Amino acid sequence: MILAAGSIGSTEILLRSRDGFGTLKNLPRSLGRGWSPNGDFLTLAKYKAERLQPTKGPTIGGVIDFLDGVDLPDDNMIGYDGRLYVEDGGLPNVGAHLFKRWMEKRGPKGWAYRKASSLTDFSDMIPWFGQSIDGADGEFSLRNPLQFWRARTQLNWNPQRSVSALDTFKDIHVAMTRATGGKPIPLATWSRLRMLVTPHPLGGCNMAAAAGAGVTNDMGEVFGHDNLFVMDGSVIPRAIGRNPSKTIAAVAERSCEKLRDELPRRLDGATTLV
Ligand SMILES: Cc1cc2nc3c(=O)[nH]c(=O)nc-3n(C[C@H](O)[C@H](O)[C@H](O)COP(=O)(O)OP(=O)(O)OC[C@H]3O[C@@H](n4cnc5c(N)ncnc54)[C@H](O)[C@@H]3O)c2cc1C
Repeated sequence: MILAAGSIGSTEILLRSRDGFGTLKNLPRSLGRGWSPNGDFLTLAKYKAERLQPTKGPTIGGVIDFLDGVDLPDDNMIGYDGRLYVEDGGLPNVGAHLFKRWMEKRGPKGWAYRKASSLTDFSDMIPWFGQSIDGADGEFSLRNPLQFWRARTQLNWNPQRSVSALDTFKDIHVAMTRATGGKPIPLATWSRLRMLVTPHPLGGCNMAAAAGAGVTNDMGEVFGHDNLFVMDGSVIPRAIGRNPSKTIAAVAERSCEKLRDELPRRLDGATTLV
């Protein structure tokens, strides 16, 4: 059996199997632990004199790689080894999409389309996107495990161990925006609420060197459960500080290759189902 439902999906399926349905009661205790949002941070900057048009063209046209560490001048984190990966992002033109069917229309409908699309054109803004090395200490558990048919995964993520990495990202965003003549728009959800959005969830079924330290071994096989494999972002046991899909795919391909090599031995003596 190969599970590949992603960091949240695979973790939820296994949590339900252990804590809800009770069909796999001996799944490792660390299941759900060590989750990371990959240190993702998204902020905006405004540039008066430039026409940037983030709603057009590709996202991530370039990156600035600080993964070997950065110390900001005049910060109070002297010697802090912030590791970051900064990218330009893109934004959808929501207004244009909403009123798309009126694009060619004359009269009020055509006017509404042009107005809406110019309102959400954000042509003087650029989203800065990036990753850092966060604390990777989020934990998924099942809410309502007793009513397991209704149970949903809930995340407990205390930002405390990630604050310095994410604040370094925030500071470097401010410094770089000012250095290029822009005005930074602070991310209030982070500074006030300590909330973030991530498209890069990692972990939950963390790969580890030994049972007791994680959920799967180096080929994605769940400790104590022969032939149950996890092959997706849920096995990545920490933030990797850059866009993760190729790392996830490379680790999954390696697991497939190892499984292929081991198949004859595993099938030898196995019961043949007709
Ligand atoms: C908007 C956006 C932009 C991104 N851009 C980039 C990028 O530029 N570069 C990059 O490297 N990464 C990018 N990513 C991240 C990348 O897509 C993910 O890291 C990667 O796809 C994760 O792979 P995965 O195999 O772990 O999970 P997924 O690709 O999410 O695959 C999991 C699959 O399992 C299915 N599933 C979930 N639960 C269940 C269930 N209970 N039963 C059955 N099926 C289930 C899902 O529908 C999905 O098809 C982006 C993500 C988003 C959201």
